[in-house]
Amino acid sequence: MGEFTQARRLRRMPQPMSFPERGISQNDVLRMLTEKLCKNIPPEQNFCNPYAGPPHPFTRMAWELAQNSFFVSGWGEEIYRGTHEMEMEAVRMVSSLLNLDDEKSLGFITSGGTESNLLAMRTAKLLAERRKKTSRPEIVMPYSGHFSFRLAGNLFGIRVREIELNDDLTPKMDQVESLINENTIAVVCSAPEGTLQVMDPIKEFAEIAERKNVYLHVDAAFGGFLFPFMKDLGYSVPAFDFSLPSVCSMMTDSHKLGLVPIAASFVIFRENYVFDDIPTEHVTIHTITSTKNGGLAAAAWGLFQLLGREGYRKYLQNALEIANALARGISGIQGVKLLAPNKQLYTVLGFTTTDRTPVENLYKEILSRRWGVGLERTPGPRGMPFIRISLSPMREKRYAEGFIGALEESVRAARSKA
Ligand SMILES: *Cc1c(COP(=O)(O)O)cnc(C)c1O
Repeated sequence: MGEFTQARRLRRMPQPMSFPERGISQNDVLRMLTEKLCKNIPPEQNFCNPYAGPPHPFTRMAWELAQNSFFVSGWGEEIYRGTHEMEMEAVRMVSSLLNLDDEKSLGFITSGGTESNLLAMRTAKLLAERRKKTSRPEIVMPYSGHFSFRLAGNLFGIRVREIELNDDLTPKMDQVESLINENTIAVVCSAPEGTLQVMDPIKEFAEIAERKNVYLHVDAAFGGFLFPFMKDLGYSVPAFDFSLPSVCSMMTDSHKLGLVPIAASFVIFRENYVFDDIPTEHVTIHTITSTKNGGLAAAAWGLFQLLGREGYRKYLQNALEIANALARGISGIQGVKLLAPNKQLYTVLGFTTTDRTPVENLYKEILSRRWGVGLERTPGPRGMPFIRISLSPMREKRYAEGFIGALEESVRAARSKA
């Protein structure tokens, strides 16, 4: 187990296509390009992922101002000093959001959550090697942990030991300590996991990591731009961040609920010494992709200044209201039911059919009406297919009403064909 257990399908490719011999006019290309884009689900009807938003409109201005600059983790700082300052200050602001205001901390803007998690796992592995801890590195994480950790296992030669899940998709915590051994280089948990936004018990993980003296990484892809603002809004939010002293690193995806354009995520390390002695050659590249468009740093830095916590609270409140309205709407439709109806609702909802109508058919009906949703599987070896909604905080309420109408029609159509 652990190594791509749910590998599914090959990428569908079109027929072979020759490279054009001669160019054509700009207008023709733009027309063809527009035709291609019309095949996409319209962004405002896309309930499939938070990036569909679109990103906050301000970020386009910031992006354009800075797009001729770049940033790399340790190179070109003198040439594009302002851009580098924006990256580093954005890292400081996000660290602060995650309760880490410490000079010794260090972080980067990466190309996404996958890179952030890869980087954390590489760092934990190199740290363990330097301490001559093990030559057979392992990590311990719940089965619901993101694909990127299994990718890290594959790329870096780390064995992934998975904690089984309870019916409510929380990890079986009584297994954690027995999976930790002298080869464990890190324990990983998620705040919350990505499929249905089920929260791992981060505090319990932190206590175990402390007792066992093992590196702890928290994947807060969604949580970093969710929980600080929910807390401000008066929700009760469990401790999930650097306020827990044994958390060594965290990541959060600003291109998800942070409203920054793709591709921008943050990875943050509590102590900069973890990067001592890491081989980087003279360019000191600490990240996995190196050169990044300066527009990303400007978009993130600029948007944090523009919105502040206050602005993010407003967008998040909107998303939570829409999620609740969708949950009510779905519960009122005969033939479908919500998954995990009793858990605290954030920005992701899952639902499935209640009769023998295959979920895949319902999915196709929804898509044929030009609404975007995800077809997913619940995590674990016996994963069940379900339909997933992941909201952008930029989504407008009226589209949620439209979605429920389209879903009602889709359920009827899928049942009549079943
Ligand atoms: C989205 C997500 C990731 C990966 O992020 P990308 O930006 O898609 O690379 C990692 N972990 C969790 C929990 C996620 O939801």
